[in-house]
Amino acid sequence: MTHQYFHGSIEVVCGPMFSGKTEELIRRVKRAQIAKQRVQIFKPAVDVRYDVEDVVSHSSQVIKSEPVENAVDILIRLKDSTRVVAIDEVQFFDENIITVVTKLAARGYRVICAGLDLDYRAQPFGPMPTLLALADEVMKIHAICTVCGAPATRSQRLTAQKERFLLGESDFYEARCRGHYQHDEVEEQALLPLEEEIKPLAGHLTN
Ligand code: ADP
Ligand code: MG
Repeated sequence: MTHQYFHGSIEVVCGPMFSGKTEELIRRVKRAQIAKQRVQIFKPAVDVRYDVEDVVSHSSQVIKSEPVENAVDILIRLKDSTRVVAIDEVQFFDENIITVVTKLAARGYRVICAGLDLDYRAQPFGPMPTLLALADEVMKIHAICTVCGAPATRSQRLTAQKERFLLGESDFYEARCRGHYQHDEVEEQALLPLEEEIKPLAGHLTN
């Protein structure tokens, strides 16, 4: 694999809340550091849940990071000696993150991104679909459903707030499997046209 990093690469770690994305990011960063590669870790400045500067996992693993206001700040803060760029909570960045990540890989950096593939409505989150498509390597990991213990792919919001960016932890969100994830009413309405569209296929979808 090492030669791949020399040419640059994009790795994306995705999944719902509590699935271990940050733990996996930290694991990869630590291994790169063992290999004596210089790593810079970024996170969006909006994410101040545990700490302004540190990236902290739900299991309290910690690593120092540089909070940035926007994607372009990553390019501005990049040091010459850096080989690996790790970005946590990458779903919070705007679409510019796609250009930044692509440029970094083209310049030979190994880029490791971790982020939510789906928002709380179970819809693809911001730049994630494109990042996943452009990635050289994708890891989609599961949390544990808080209702039944099955692998969880979705983040259930426990409050009625409707904004997409609602920072919070187990007070606001729970990991859920497909069966125990509940769409809110507004979301059910939004899904109706899609169901109309696939009606002609219904006969094929019943089983
Ligand atoms: P993420 O970055 O994906 O939100 P973290 O890496 O911060 O996840 O935390 C993962 C850790 O969260 C697990 O190792 C476990 O200790 C803890 N955890 C808490 N609730 C759950 C859950 N429902 N499913 C799995 N892990 C959970
Ligand atoms: Mg995380």
